[in-house]
Amino acid sequence: FNPVFDALPVTVFETMSRLARETGAINLGQGFPDDPGPEDVRAKAAEAALHGWSQYPPMMGLAGLREATAAHYARWQGVSLDPEREVMVTSGATEALAGALLALVEPGDEVVLIQPMYDAYLPLALRAGATPRFVRLGPPDWRLDVDAIRAAIGPRAKAVVLNNPLNPAGAVYGREDLEALAGALEGSGAVLISDEVWEHVTFDGRAHVSALAVPALRDRTVKIGSAGKIFAMTGWKVGLVCAAPHLMRALSRAHQFLTFTTPPSLQEAVAYGLGKDDAWFLDARAALGAKRDRFAAALRAAGFAPLASAGTYFLNVDVAPLGVTDDAAFCERLAREAGVAAIPVSAFYASDKVTTVARFCFAKHDATLDAAAGRLAAFR
Ligand code: PMP
Ligand code: GLN
Repeated sequence: FNPVFDALPVTVFETMSRLARETGAINLGQGFPDDPGPEDVRAKAAEAALHGWSQYPPMMGLAGLREATAAHYARWQGVSLDPEREVMVTSGATEALAGALLALVEPGDEVVLIQPMYDAYLPLALRAGATPRFVRLGPPDWRLDVDAIRAAIGPRAKAVVLNNPLNPAGAVYGREDLEALAGALEGSGAVLISDEVWEHVTFDGRAHVSALAVPALRDRTVKIGSAGKIFAMTGWKVGLVCAAPHLMRALSRAHQFLTFTTPPSLQEAVAYGLGKDDAWFLDARAALGAKRDRFAAALRAAGFAPLASAGTYFLNVDVAPLGVTDDAAFCERLAREAGVAAIPVSAFYASDKVTTVARFCFAKHDATLDAAAGRLAAFR
């Protein structure tokens, strides 16, 4: 028995995926698409693995990928970045989050976490020595409560972590929200860690606004992207970190000691992928949007109450009308009795939990979604 290991929780994604395997439930819990991702991007990785670089690539990432990242964000988000000084490649967004917290936080500092929060934030912040200050958002609209954020930013605050679009809520925050957030940060010493991994997964024609595109946030933001999300290939751990040079200096020091580099074949393929034409990205969005609509309609027909989802490939169901008060127990029953695995949204809270919402991943084949909806209808 080593008490150190008990300091870190087991992630809900691992717990629910294991339960899905054990029970044979359709796994709409952990978020991953059931297609393997674009073939041309995978072919580039294969080609690069055979003929390209095998040894350590440059610590900051391949120059080609850093340039492609700057060009991609200029094209899609109107952000102007110096690829040499403001872009770094990490082994997934997760490494970037860990690195940002390790680089910016000293024991006793405060980090503002906005709940619901992606499950890695709190354990990483705590292990970096931070004292968390929580802000709570809730259904049905998950409005960004900037007054609560302002109130949570004290003199010891070193970072505010924002996830936009917000997993698991499916909320997308726009320029006005970000400008208000900039106002809340003004005069503080806090950096905005802006987890934008879902930046390409927005629906209904809504464009993602990067925190870096808001002038008052430009020099105090660490923007984090993920090729795993951009190309629907979650196993590809390639993170894209963008920040002003004074922040990047600190972030790159942490990266040196976490992974130092990221597999070069994947970097070459991602550099290629980021240059794909607009239509590819828009089609991918439209295809996911259609799945969202299909699954939401099937859930409604089955007597469930799905909440709106403006971004991410997750759809939340309000299970309070079913008399549920414990979403974790409900999701366990759902896996065992209905044969569908979902994620209880309470897992994204540390305090004052929302306990009546279940999250379903809809990045699945239509037949899988239909089968899951059928099982849920029978259960209901
Ligand atoms: N942040 C959020 C909000 C996520 O949803 C995910 C992946 N599900 C990550 C970070 C991790 O991304 P990566 O796989 O690139 O580490
Ligand atoms: N990001 C994915 C989700 O929210 C899962 C990530 C993971 O398994 N760690 O479902």
